[in-house]
Amino acid sequence: MAIIHEILESVRKRNAGEPEFLQAATEVLESIEPAVQRHKKYVEGRVLERLVEPERVIIFRVPWQDDKGQYRINRGFRIQMNSAIGPYKGGLRFHPTVNLSILKFLAFEQVFKNSLTTLPMGGGKGGSDFDPKGKSDNEVMRFCQSFMTELFRHIGPDTDVPAGDIGVGGREIGYLYGQYKRLANESTGVLTGKGINWGGSLIRPEATGYGCVYFAEEMLKTRGESLAGKVCTVSGSGNAAQFTVEKLIQVGAKPVTMSDSNGFIYDKNGINQEKLEWIKNLKNVRRGRIKEYADEFGVEYVEGQRPWILACQCAFPCATQNEINGEDAARLLKNGCYLVSEAANMPSDPDAIHQFLAAKILYGPGKAANAGGVATSGLEMSQNSMRLPWTREEVDKRLHHIMVTIHKNAWDTAADYGQPGNLLVGANIAGFTKVADAMLDQGLV
Ligand code: NDP
Repeated sequence: MAIIHEILESVRKRNAGEPEFLQAATEVLESIEPAVQRHKKYVEGRVLERLVEPERVIIFRVPWQDDKGQYRINRGFRIQMNSAIGPYKGGLRFHPTVNLSILKFLAFEQVFKNSLTTLPMGGGKGGSDFDPKGKSDNEVMRFCQSFMTELFRHIGPDTDVPAGDIGVGGREIGYLYGQYKRLANESTGVLTGKGINWGGSLIRPEATGYGCVYFAEEMLKTRGESLAGKVCTVSGSGNAAQFTVEKLIQVGAKPVTMSDSNGFIYDKNGINQEKLEWIKNLKNVRRGRIKEYADEFGVEYVEGQRPWILACQCAFPCATQNEINGEDAARLLKNGCYLVSEAANMPSDPDAIHQFLAAKILYGPGKAANAGGVATSGLEMSQNSMRLPWTREEVDKRLHHIMVTIHKNAWDTAADYGQPGNLLVGANIAGFTKVADAMLDQGLV
């Protein structure tokens, strides 16, 4: 469709040097073409041109002092992408690779993901090129306090509600929340992922991983199958990966790998709950490397590689963007993989996605499969507003229901637009139409 190509051409010119953002924008705009063709109002209302332009981008200096007394300077960001259906909502990422392009891609994805959750949340994302790895708790605290000293004036429980992402877990959320509270002089649900005895929700830490596995189960149900007994490869060993593995164990699947940026471990007998508890301690308390698992349990460690070289039936990318390229995808397919459920954001590059769709395997794109994390953040916001905590069972039941609903919505939408089984198209169109209609309802904003 000529109009989509024209808009993409202009997006490329205006955002040159932002490859990740351009990748995400291209994927979404190309896949929603059938919806734009069916409903002329989106073209007439210039909705696409508005969607690719963030409502607000905040970039700021974050000065802090390390343990040796040296001054350090990092860069902080918050992208407030779209607030058509609710306050901006999306995580904070602390990683040395963080830049405007990566955060704009994440914020853009977040808009459609949040729309799919059924909850009233707009899309945003933020973070810093600060690397928490190798820093003391005190250094992380000083950094978080300085970061929040600027961020606090741009956020609020009804304005913008950040959460965690890579490099931002319970420890960082605690320091950020403590500083927000000092500055704003109020105790509100301004961040999600909080500790359980100061406003957090049960199941929030588990939600991204659990939700991704619930989504995989829904995909398998369409073929009359379940995860029980399936060999699963998992990348990453952080929050998303740990709870993906935990739920895989609970449903009787066999997770055989976990990784970090140095390499992966291969436990061919399967990672069980006891070994997973060891990993949680390694990663969340001792903050060590995944290689130590191989030394502890006498299994294989493959340095400098990702788990996609192994045979498996199901793959769960839980680390980072573009971690499955065309070569990896070809290898996965050749080795019999027929389900990919993405806990990470945009982990498959365009070539990999193309191969998965052409092979008609069960492919759950991140914005649908990993939406359980932000959905449960939405549930944390509800509980904070009511000042009433729900039980573990209640939150898990709601999370499960949301994942089933997202799958059904993506599945039905794909069929409605003549591409049955294509959950990428289904998720993108379903996420898009809700936001686009809200934008049109609200006039030229
Ligand atoms: P964590 O920081 O807890 O863990 C990240 C994991 O991925 C670590 O094992 C890390 O290894 C690895 N990793 C990070 N960057 C790279 C890289 N460039 N190459 C190889 N491995 C890498 O983050 P999360 O688990 O929270 O996030 C993982 C993914 O899930 C991200 O894509 C995130 O956006 C997505 N996600 C997370 C949600 C959440 O609720 N936390 C919600 C929805 C999506 P190392 O320690 O060596 O860096």
